[in-house]
Amino acid sequence: MAPTQHSIDRVLQFINPDELIELTADLVKINSVWDPVAGTSEQPAAEYVFNWAQKQGFEVQMDTVAPCRPNVIVTWAADTGGLTLMFEGHTDVVTPGDESVWDYDPFGAEIVGRRMFGRGTNDTKGNLAAMLTAMAALKRSGVSLSGTIIGGVLCDEEDQMLGVRDFIERGHADTVTAAVICEPQDGLICTTQKGALRARYRISGRMSHGAMPLAGLNTAPAVAGLIKRLHELELKAVDDPGQDDHLGWPSFTPTVIQAPAAGTPQLNVMPGDAQILVDIRTVPGQRHPDIVNDLEAAAADVERQIRNDYLEYDQRLKLERSRDLRINVEMLTDRPCTLTDRDDPIVAAADWASRQQTKQAPTYAGVPGATDGTFLWALKNIPIVTMGAGDRQVPHQVDEWVDLDQLIETAKIYALTALHYLWPKSGSRVD
Ligand SMILES: [Zn+2]
Repeated sequence: MAPTQHSIDRVLQFINPDELIELTADLVKINSVWDPVAGTSEQPAAEYVFNWAQKQGFEVQMDTVAPCRPNVIVTWAADTGGLTLMFEGHTDVVTPGDESVWDYDPFGAEIVGRRMFGRGTNDTKGNLAAMLTAMAALKRSGVSLSGTIIGGVLCDEEDQMLGVRDFIERGHADTVTAAVICEPQDGLICTTQKGALRARYRISGRMSHGAMPLAGLNTAPAVAGLIKRLHELELKAVDDPGQDDHLGWPSFTPTVIQAPAAGTPQLNVMPGDAQILVDIRTVPGQRHPDIVNDLEAAAADVERQIRNDYLEYDQRLKLERSRDLRINVEMLTDRPCTLTDRDDPIVAAADWASRQQTKQAPTYAGVPGATDGTFLWALKNIPIVTMGAGDRQVPHQVDEWVDLDQLIETAKIYALTALHYLWPKSGSRVD
């Protein structure tokens, strides 16, 4: 049974656009770049949300994840028992970079026409303000819901995702039955996310003078062999599972190729070691443990092949030398791809809310990068949808902006999503 028109009208009536815009502006004006050298962190933004949420009468908790890096947990238990819906938004923003190339003050929250400019307007303080506004509207409306809403206002989404890991470790996610990840997706409903697997290959040879290469063991042929193997692995993935409808092609990208692995290269020095960093992005249908096996097999095969090549060459030159070339591979990041079923109640709720508000069928899409939702999905099996206001290309750019009308619409969609998801299932309600 879907929520009644009366309840919809009542909840929407409590979304005040001016309040939402002011909350967004206040958050944008707080520089929350994690920069220990400059002395900025998520702390003041978290404190601002803490105080705001207390004023609304929410139960609020602040957890210290790391020094000056708190999570704020905003809870509204509309009813004991039932489902628990989490809204997740992060307080950290990426650096503005060179401020002189901005046309607007990165922390000014300037409004021109229907756009607000500033770092975090799009990713994701606007959406954070929208989710808090939606929670406040639901609470103020007095509409009876079955269950609990948790606002996870987390730190460190942009780097190590310490905030969401801490949230999970402390048990906050244990009761969560679904989550809305509040990130700039331009009004799309994203039910899938690319996975990321990052690896480092280290190739050890032997350093020598460039004029006497036979006195050493060059790593370059192994680097070439590995790059070829990585391309073959990519081709295999392009064949199977192939292109995902929402996420596009899987990829195996060698991003950093260095010899020597550290220090200054010199033209007349044959380096003794090398490293390749590989950024692998996966789609549903690829299994990360299989990929790890493939990466390890590539290291072993290329090592054997290059040692053989050196043996043949040395025999030809009637040369004796140690050919103990070694290749190791180390996994640096392993974040699976996520896929929430279209039939899941949270997707049904987001779909219904989006139709209510836009009077159109929603468009489904995928998230190209990992978010805090990746961990909720992977570690706690929580179904997630990622949605929010803001052009998808704008995050991390100069003159970041958000469309205020889309932001207001987003707050309404968030509120209606919760209304639908937590709408009492039995016929016993009095509305
Ligand atoms: Zn973000």
